[in-house]
Amino acid sequence: MKQKYNPDPVLVVREHLRSLVPCRPARSGRHERGSILLDANENAFGTPGGLCYNRYPDPSADELRTAIAGMLGLDASAVIAGNGSDEIIDLLFRACCEPGKDEAAVITPSYGMYGILAAIHGAGTVEIPLDRRFDLDLDRTLDLLARRTRLKLLFLCSPNNPTGNLLSADAVTALAAAFQGITVVDEAYIDFASGPGLLGALGAHSRLFLIRTLSKAWGLAGIRVGFGIGDPRLVRILNRIRLPYNLGTPAQTAALHAMHHADDKERMIGAIIAERNRLAAALQRSASVRHVYPSDANFILIRTGDADALHAYLRGRGIVVRNRSRLPGCGNCLRISVGTPAENDALLRCLNDWEDLP
Ligand SMILES: *Cc1c(COP(=O)(O)O)cnc(C)c1O
Repeated sequence: MKQKYNPDPVLVVREHLRSLVPCRPARSGRHERGSILLDANENAFGTPGGLCYNRYPDPSADELRTAIAGMLGLDASAVIAGNGSDEIIDLLFRACCEPGKDEAAVITPSYGMYGILAAIHGAGTVEIPLDRRFDLDLDRTLDLLARRTRLKLLFLCSPNNPTGNLLSADAVTALAAAFQGITVVDEAYIDFASGPGLLGALGAHSRLFLIRTLSKAWGLAGIRVGFGIGDPRLVRILNRIRLPYNLGTPAQTAALHAMHHADDKERMIGAIIAERNRLAAALQRSASVRHVYPSDANFILIRTGDADALHAYLRGRGIVVRNRSRLPGCGNCLRISVGTPAENDALLRCLNDWEDLP
């Protein structure tokens, strides 16, 4: 069989990090059960109030990473856990972008954190405008990527925030095959989508890297757990350069607890999708809504006649939605998260009242 071209993604990593010797935590792995632990200067007497958090967390989050990998049918060596997926994005910049020299490409409109973290790390950004249907323009993107020699990261988001659509999987894999840097696909909303996402493409594309989170479908935004999935050679480097105790014990415990109740998650996703479809149909009938963009996520982007006025009006009625009208291609657009049936009904009632205003 012909060998697949499988370039080492570590070649994208900043040179001084490729051979970095990581900090060794006082205790590796989980607490040795039954041992007397006098090695990490913890408080052996306990925690005021009685919640037992006096011991340092497992620095490698082994149990959690194994659970995540098992759920996805992967080996744990392909998974890195982070303090929210924002930490994973941060680590990619730390790993790959030489400040003041290297660049990242970001699609627009999309999630703002890619550009913010690029700026924090002193990396330039190259904007890749999406087409009229908010999908990738493959030829134009390939052309852009080929002309920038210091591009290390390409950020794609599918389903995309705030537009709600999946990007064409063929275009994404074509980019991952052609781009010499790391092609990152943020799949924060993939559990709400009609398509499977790009997990299946990882084996053929060593420089494709996926980001997922427990903040959305898993209902765990408060604990801050996200993860990255990719070539174990790159994952190993990211694990070396992250802070040693990036996930606290409460986060690891809560994440594992939720993952043992995956049926509840599937039920909630079903309910959220049903509400999304009901809300989209009702918005479509609303006179104050000019366009409802199709959604594969847990939010809906709408175009209105006057986004600022409608946003302020809803706020006055105690309903907070996201004004995205300043983003390229999103003039007069609001992004509405799918709420409970009662919350969505309240929103629709307010929209009706708005229409009736003189
Ligand atoms: C909400 C969201 C995330 C989640 O970030 P966390 O840090 O994991 O909470 C990531 N990417 C996108 C595009 C999002 O909209």
